Amino acid sequence: MTPDELKSLVRAIPDFPKPGIQFRDVTTLLADPAGLKAVIDGLAAIARPVDADLVVGIEARGFILGAALAVALGTGFVPVRKAGKLPGKTVGIDYVLEYGTDRLEIHAGQVPVGARAILVDDLIATGGTALAAAQLLREQGAAVEMALFAIDLPELGGMNALKADGVAASALMD
Ligand code: IMP
Repeated sequence: MTPDELKSLVRAIPDFPKPGIQFRDVTTLLADPAGLKAVIDGLAAIARPVDADLVVGIEARGFILGAALAVALGTGFVPVRKAGKLPGKTVGIDYVLEYGTDRLEIHAGQVPVGARAILVDDLIATGGTALAAAQLLREQGAAVEMALFAIDLPELGGMNALKADGVAASALMD
């Protein structure tokens, strides 16, 4: 499947979650058997040479892609969640949004010191979420070998921000 064919399976929904925002909805891509396989195969092809030992997915659509990628790579999977969602003891990071702050958490001890992690989400926009997740993993002593996304919104600069932070980053489409 070409990047254009893949892109045609992503739906744009106007004015969600706020007026003026065009939301890129990957649920249409996930529901398509060939599209879902192409995304996971594409991410796995980029990730395989890194030989990582952990995939870390960002809530919520990063769970779907990240878990499937972990199975393809033969690694475990760790979820990064919004504050207050994980039942066990957590470690977290606060990060700044356009208006206010937010917090990401993982279960304490689930990212071992020295782990070689691949970070996954459905989409990168400004990069704020992925940068915070990468920092949280580094604070646990892990190395963020790569960050992978199905979609990049290049005009928002997230990919460059990640690269400036020393994280190799790729997306399958923009
Ligand atoms: P960033 O932190 O500005 O890079 O925003 C990326 C985060 O917001 C990711 O967790 C995405 O899942 C989510 N996000 C932002 N815009 C969209 C969109 O248009 N479609 C799907 N997810 C989005």
